[in-house]
Amino acid sequence: MTDPHLIPLIRQAREASLRAYIPYSGYPVGALLRAADGTLFTGCNVENAAYPATICAERTALVKAVSEGYRTFDLLIVYTPNGGSPCGVCRQMLYEFAPGLRVLLVDDREAIVYDGALTDLLPRGFGPTSLPDNHPLGEDGNRTVDTTEKRRSDGRR
Ligand SMILES: [Zn+2]
Repeated sequence: MTDPHLIPLIRQAREASLRAYIPYSGYPVGALLRAADGTLFTGCNVENAAYPATICAERTALVKAVSEGYRTFDLLIVYTPNGGSPCGVCRQMLYEFAPGLRVLLVDDREAIVYDGALTDLLPRGFGPTSLPDNHPLGEDGNRTVDTTEKRRSDGRR
């Protein structure tokens, strides 16, 4: 039984897939990313005739959110017709901001086929703290430091 609070969020992820630009794969993906304050961002996959230029729904939602000033997230819902899983690039991009992210994968029955942690999808991920000059993490496991400001205060470029 799906948590009733999740149902409208699952619908939004699915609705986002209706805007997918998928002339090559025909595989619609919709994502909903929830910021820590509850703000919701959706994304769809946008393909390109130069195939590698394609962007996935998950990263579309993420870059929308980050470009609007949001950097902490607690939930990602990904809709695909068959409950497909995020690609490695998306897992890596999400790990940068939200290693503690909960990920739900849903299919065209709007059934949850996976409910787990990003760290299970990307074990031993490489993140901000993996670098020698690491950055502190917030209590929720999300990155909280504005690296631009930090570099400036350190006197580095
Ligand atoms: Zn992806």
